[in-house]
Amino acid sequence: MNVEQNQTGGFRSCFRRVTPYVPGEQPKEQNIIKLNTNENPYPPSPAVAKALREMEPDKFRLYPDPACGILTKALADYHGVGADQVFVGVGSDDVLAMAFMTFFNSDRPIFFPDITYSFYPVWAGLFRIPYEQKALDENFRLRSEDYAQENGGVIFPNPNAPTGLLEPLSFIEDILDHNRDVIVVIDEAYIDFGGQSALALLDRYENLLVVRTYSKSRSMAGVRIGYAVGSCELIRAMQDVKYSFNSYTMSQAALELGTAALADEAYFRTVTDRIIATRSRAVKRLTEQGFCCLDSCANFIFAAHPGYDGEKLFAYLRQNGIYVRHFSGPRIGRYLRITMGLDEEMERLYETLERAYGSL
Ligand code: PMP
Repeated sequence: MNVEQNQTGGFRSCFRRVTPYVPGEQPKEQNIIKLNTNENPYPPSPAVAKALREMEPDKFRLYPDPACGILTKALADYHGVGADQVFVGVGSDDVLAMAFMTFFNSDRPIFFPDITYSFYPVWAGLFRIPYEQKALDENFRLRSEDYAQENGGVIFPNPNAPTGLLEPLSFIEDILDHNRDVIVVIDEAYIDFGGQSALALLDRYENLLVVRTYSKSRSMAGVRIGYAVGSCELIRAMQDVKYSFNSYTMSQAALELGTAALADEAYFRTVTDRIIATRSRAVKRLTEQGFCCLDSCANFIFAAHPGYDGEKLFAYLRQNGIYVRHFSGPRIGRYLRITMGLDEEMERLYETLERAYGSL
């Protein structure tokens, strides 16, 4: 057997070959400053800590409710929709993957931006969905006319990632008006940091699916909770796919903790306001240092320094215990994506960058 056959022939030809998504690093070292995966620097609500203390381990003997009843109901009440309009999953990645599988089944390509959440092409590859990536304009904004051509579905984050740029509801409405015969998915992972939600359009568009997460604004990335809100017809279709794949997606613990978090609106507002304030200060400080910062509505800033290469700055920060995210690519290679941290962490970032300018 030659080497080539050894690597790809025989049973190996049965493998599903995919190019996986590469998540941001989760470094093991202590005392680092982690501004690379858009987590929330503040703890979850005290209501979550209380629910955790009061959790009854005996409940773990049993399978959890496959319909995720308590959390679905709490989310429906929170958003003022019916419980049959909410689909819960293991982080929004799980919800988005289910949406791809359920709704993107056309021979026509689905459309999403060329600079966006890099999991979209991975799911399209995994599920063999044809896709076209539409180039953002020179200001990194989506062009609505690109999404008016015939397609098999549309998905983009609002605000977009990694740019942080928000499109207004009128833009989303325009996309919906031009795409009545396909499903339009708006990924609102970062909407709580200053954007108007497309949930307001649900009554008028039965083909709109809005996807949300607890990972950013609710400080619960480690618990893995995401959800979608849409017409009951869309949600039912997603449930059918979920029950054909894995009935028990959400652990009992996640269901209880996710429900508890929703009861504490005051804490949620305090934390998101704090991050928005940190973002305003960070834009000011980084701009003073010479960075160009895109106008972010998310919990991160996408910024480039005209005098310094993004990859070099990234490496310098990393050597100094500060993790930010850098993506290579012709248009974004100069940029750093910096998650908003605690005030003292941000100060360390500014000081370290000042030192970088002297030594790079
Ligand atoms: N959508 C976007 C745009 C994201 O940046 C992320 C975070 N990687 C997600 C979805 C998924 O987040 P999670 O699975 O933690 O809800």
